[in-house]
Amino acid sequence: MKPVAPDRIDALPGKRLSESDTFNFACHDGLACFNQCCRNLNLFLYPYDVLRLKKALNITAGDFIERYVDVVMRPDNFFPDVLLSMADNAEKTCPFLTDTGCAVYEDRSYSCRLFPMEQGVIMPDGEAKPEILYLFRPPEFCLGRHEDRPLSPAQWIADQQAETYVRMTRLWAEVKALFSADPWGAAGPYGPAAKMAFMAAYNMDAFRDFVFNSGFLKRYKVKSATLQKLRASDTELMLFGFDWIKLFVWGIKSDRIRLK
Ligand code: SF4
Ligand code: SF4
Repeated sequence: MKPVAPDRIDALPGKRLSESDTFNFACHDGLACFNQCCRNLNLFLYPYDVLRLKKALNITAGDFIERYVDVVMRPDNFFPDVLLSMADNAEKTCPFLTDTGCAVYEDRSYSCRLFPMEQGVIMPDGEAKPEILYLFRPPEFCLGRHEDRPLSPAQWIADQQAETYVRMTRLWAEVKALFSADPWGAAGPYGPAAKMAFMAAYNMDAFRDFVFNSGFLKRYKVKSATLQKLRASDTELMLFGFDWIKLFVWGIKSDRIRLK
């Protein structure tokens, strides 16, 4: 999810795809490049990716973050980006790559599903919502682009069962876009408030504990129907976390939560 300034769109690498554009692509294990793309990647992980991957691996979100991610702060943003750590070997392979393919295929990340498309987010001026754009950007070694299978962006997203990822990442992009301005003041983007916001976005198990086992519900009003959903669903909890970040950091109200 690359943030793109509106006046930089034409300078983006790859071909920008409109809804009606098509590209040729098919990926299968008969191609000589099979699995070559799963190495040495800057693979961004969004909150819904972590939610799916930690479930697939049957570990907590905190353990996943500890074991599998690098957290980096871009100079032009005030909320960290999360990248999958590549293995410490000569080829810097993805930690989930096996001889037979992807060990977490059913729960692979949004970026893995979109590849060889990439998603960018046009950072808006003022109050406008961020706009999502797609680029077709296969690396030279990717032979799938020579296959005779025309696809539109929507067809590729459906083929990869990425519709939920699109929705969740779009909602996350709205939160992330707010952090193009600095909300942290003197404490900075590594201060206690910033750590809480990061937890709410990425460490949903710790956030659940914070919601249900701290003074959280004395401070915030949350409907009992909402609380039931939060207990039952990591996805609901993640979306609630997005709303809480908006309220906690920016004072933006929502239907899910308000101050008492
Ligand atoms: S390089 Fe392209 S065609 Fe080859 S395995 Fe990766 S995505 Fe598929
Ligand atoms: S998660 Fe799976 S699809 Fe994605 S880079 Fe790793 S091995 Fe490849």
